[in-house]
Amino acid sequence: MPTETLEDARAALEHTGKRPAIFFDRDGVINTRILGGYVRHPRELEILPGVPKVLREIKRRGYLAIVITNQRGVGLGLMTEHDLHALHDELQTRIQVEAGVTFDDFLFATGVDSSDPRRKPSPAMLLEAAEKWNIDLTQSWMIGDSMSDIEAGHRAKTKTAYLITIHSEEIPRATKVLHSLEEILRFV
Ligand SMILES: [Mg+2]
Repeated sequence: MPTETLEDARAALEHTGKRPAIFFDRDGVINTRILGGYVRHPRELEILPGVPKVLREIKRRGYLAIVITNQRGVGLGLMTEHDLHALHDELQTRIQVEAGVTFDDFLFATGVDSSDPRRKPSPAMLLEAAEKWNIDLTQSWMIGDSMSDIEAGHRAKTKTAYLITIHSEEIPRATKVLHSLEEILRFV
């Protein structure tokens, strides 16, 4: 673990009262993506390996853990916001059992396209979270498996980590490229 980074984060906290966060994309990072479809029901929720360990460890190191997700299935009428909340409650319950900790927040955009000003690659949800939680974005990370996650991070001025998956077609310019989620622990 690069202690300088952790010390930088702690120093920032002491000077500004702001906290660092790790922002996670959801589908493909926290849970298995359903290709060409949407995770709509708790029974379709499959938490990816490494997630409990990473969550436990980053919280121990003083980071907030916040999920930032585009959920156009809601805008398309395939699921409701209530379904989404039920899914996130289930995720929290399972993570609590496995990791002993939970995510601090979930922010989601339900619009189907870029006419939704909150939808990634817009940085809006990251900025919203920063305001709500008093986050130092420059000491924070956005982790995702899509170009739009990385772009949102760049635009919000976070560090970025691109998680390579079997579906990756091109690799965006991110601060770090991860072959597994656990690799983030080497950088934070
Ligand atoms: Mg994704």
